[in-house]
Amino acid sequence: MAHGACDSCGNAKEECECEMYCSRCGGTNVQIAMWVRTNTEEVLDDFGSFDETDTKWCEDCEAHVLLFSKDMKRAMRDTGS
Ligand SMILES: [Zn+2]
Ligand SMILES: [Zn+2]
Repeated sequence: MAHGACDSCGNAKEECECEMYCSRCGGTNVQIAMWVRTNTEEVLDDFGSFDETDTKWCEDCEAHVLLFSKDMKRAMRDTGS
């Protein structure tokens, strides 16, 4: 894997589409609640919730936010809203 490539998709960071952004500030300082096996610290699925913002958090906004990918961000910019 090339230096600076994304761990998830293997693309260069500039071409990576899987990084998630805060819907409020556009930052990448975001977190999502995950299930972790207590004894092995193995990370499993995301927590899941009926309320989408429930398990997602932006450290910069210090608030529960929605997350979106670079792809979705570009789509939003293209429609101009
Ligand atoms: Zn990626
Ligand atoms: Zn934010």
